[in-house]
Amino acid sequence: MTLDPDNWQDFRAQSHRMLDDMLDYQQHLRERPVWQPIPASAREAFKAALPHAPGTLADAHATFLQSILPYGPGNSHPGFFGWVQGGGTPVGMMAELLAAGLNANLGGRDQMPIVVEQQVLQWVRELFGFPADASGLFVTGASMANMIALLVARTRALGAPVRERGVHGHRLVAYTSAGAHGCIAQAMDLTGIGFDALRRIPENANFEMDIALLERAIDADIAAGLQPFFIAGTAGTVDVGAVDDLAAIAGIAARHGIWFHVDGAYGALGMLSPEIAPQLAGIELADSIAFDFHKWGQVPYDAGFVIVRDGRQHLDTFASPAAYLRRETRGMAAGSPWPCDFGPDLSRGFRALKTWFTLTVYGSDQLGRMIADTCALARYLVQQIALHPVLELMAPVALNIVCFRYRCADPDRINAAIAVDLQESGIAAPSITTVHGQLVLRAAIVNHRTTAADVDALIHATVSFGAARCTSSES
Ligand SMILES: *Cc1c(COP(=O)(O)O)cnc(C)c1O
Repeated sequence: MTLDPDNWQDFRAQSHRMLDDMLDYQQHLRERPVWQPIPASAREAFKAALPHAPGTLADAHATFLQSILPYGPGNSHPGFFGWVQGGGTPVGMMAELLAAGLNANLGGRDQMPIVVEQQVLQWVRELFGFPADASGLFVTGASMANMIALLVARTRALGAPVRERGVHGHRLVAYTSAGAHGCIAQAMDLTGIGFDALRRIPENANFEMDIALLERAIDADIAAGLQPFFIAGTAGTVDVGAVDDLAAIAGIAARHGIWFHVDGAYGALGMLSPEIAPQLAGIELADSIAFDFHKWGQVPYDAGFVIVRDGRQHLDTFASPAAYLRRETRGMAAGSPWPCDFGPDLSRGFRALKTWFTLTVYGSDQLGRMIADTCALARYLVQQIALHPVLELMAPVALNIVCFRYRCADPDRINAAIAVDLQESGIAAPSITTVHGQLVLRAAIVNHRTTAADVDALIHATVSFGAARCTSSES
């Protein structure tokens, strides 16, 4: 019994239809709403008991087209401004198809897919000015990448015995900015070090970690007999896109012998643009960097990455001498250390292929220009806000994230309602956040498809929903 098709001819014809449909979808994305709520009927109609009997590929595809495709998350659409999400590309989509066809498991063994991952790692080293013995790994996303970096820093601080004895009774303390992503605190939790050992350093007026307060916190912890071991700077905060003074943090970390990590989930790939790279100065001094190819890099989900300057320390954190994975110099089991020796995953998909295709087909210069363009569009949005007296800019714009709001009485409630109006309209989909305790509309321009016309549509729709909301709330 095999799961291959009985009739390859029919399967091929149906497969070509599926490919054409997805290419049509990508080509005509702009004609669709950004997002639409899932009708209760569609949710209900999708429920089914475990399918015991076989169905046809054509029927499953028809269900996909009817029930799944129209109610996606919206991030591929040029009018999507929510959170920080990449748009994907047709090239990435095709590479995913090839990777799925190959069905490679990149945990280890001697295979060209691992050579592809190592090639991408080499490009990452080059991009960040890391040495040839820096190690790196594809992971799900920056959340996992940040946690891996924290674990390496923990092993360096406490020595290899921590792997057997755990962190029980530790005196470790870590530092990040108040604007850091929640996954830093989560990593403290998951690694058993605990949130309480994370100092959230307040931000300065530009929403960057306040360097003087960082130094003061470290001095106080040392005086109290604690062991500062990890500082996570952020390159592109989620709320406003601020970049910490990475060079200053590197200096402090070096003086105290503390691990300097950069959460560059979306911002680190700004290094691809000669225009943006100077804002990231100091990132080349990091002990480790976490970032996502699936955000500014536009690689389809998921494609997170962690790079560690000292590959030996990285290996010492994860490598396990499990007998059944005995290392060989020849045959299929050659080529150690394997990717599974650098992280918690054993089985791993071929995320490297879609990333290799993206870099190879578009080229790093063009990707850098695309990234710089999203920042230029953010500046354009700022200009448009300035031209509309009913709108107000709520935070400085360092990169590609613009926080603003509609001026009116009860602005928190009205702007939250405007965000939902916008999302449900299908015209433009920003998200919301809070800045200095005030609720604001937040537009993150990440998608390579977004143009000035999409920014105009966002402004226009915000002004008209705002006017409708304010009039109705006053009447
Ligand atoms: C998106 C983001 C993360 C989380 O990354 P995932 O890929 O979603 O795990 C962490 N930090 C920052 C600054 C981010 O923007």
